[in-house]
Amino acid sequence: THFGFKTVPQSVKESLVGHVFTSVSPKYDLMNDSMSLGIHRLWKESFVNAMVPRLSPSVHSNVNQSIPGSISGWENWTPTLKCLDVAGGTGDIALKILDKAREKYGNRDVEVEIVDLNEGMLHEGQKRVAKTVYYNTPQISFTHGNAQSLPKHIQDNSIDIYTIAFGIRNCTSLEAVLKEAHRVLKPGGRLGVLEFGKVQNPLFKEVYKQYSFNFIPLMGQLLAGDRDSYQYLIESIERFPTQVEFARLVQEAGFQTGELREGKGGAWTDYTNGICTFWRGVKA
Ligand code: SAM
Repeated sequence: THFGFKTVPQSVKESLVGHVFTSVSPKYDLMNDSMSLGIHRLWKESFVNAMVPRLSPSVHSNVNQSIPGSISGWENWTPTLKCLDVAGGTGDIALKILDKAREKYGNRDVEVEIVDLNEGMLHEGQKRVAKTVYYNTPQISFTHGNAQSLPKHIQDNSIDIYTIAFGIRNCTSLEAVLKEAHRVLKPGGRLGVLEFGKVQNPLFKEVYKQYSFNFIPLMGQLLAGDRDSYQYLIESIERFPTQVEFARLVQEAGFQTGELREGKGGAWTDYTNGICTFWRGVKA
């Protein structure tokens, strides 16, 4: 089946996306690993490393070391880094953010809220979090919602870090997603978008094309019994803008991106020849 997005109404597209992720959610990790040969983990790792700033270690308020002349309790206060992981699905990015803060900086004052359109994915995410140290803590929460019009309790200028990984290409309006991201971020807050990019190198491009058009739907068929959903995912990757086009959209939404080029100081970084791309922006 071929679904050209430009001709599909939003409601149909959203129910289609709903179907794709409901049918794959329990096998989501297995599918990702087998289709990317495990490489998606490295992309996500690099993405999170780039997005999480240097943090100071947490000093918990039960450590009651009062400093003379200070108001009791205040010496232990550290600001909470507020993160929003949109299209956060099974919690992959959120857990990586929390692990990085805790393992590298000894910081447990980071909070990540996951927003996703699909209940099945949220459910898988909750099951996964139940096996971690973050279970039942304010550090992680799940909300059902749409990237294009975020849940009302997420206020303007309230978020330090906004991430969306492999989710924006499923949205009907990229502009609406970026506008919402800009609205909820604090001034100085960071936007990070991880998504499939376009491969530049002609030889590598051909290999990738063969791989994605033949191997991926086949794997979808074998592992999830669902060839069409994976055919749809491939097509959505094809339709997504190029690196420079998407960087322009980020700028048009009001973000500072650096120069319109790849690499350090530029608006994006390519991973694995551009199969995957990380776009960044800062709210002025
Ligand atoms: N971020 C996760 C990761 O990297 O593993 C999940 C990515 S998964 C490929 C895409 C997710 O986007 C799905 O969980 C899907 O439900 C969600 N999604 C699709 N359209 C959405 C929208 N308009 N708003 C919020 N989430 C959406």
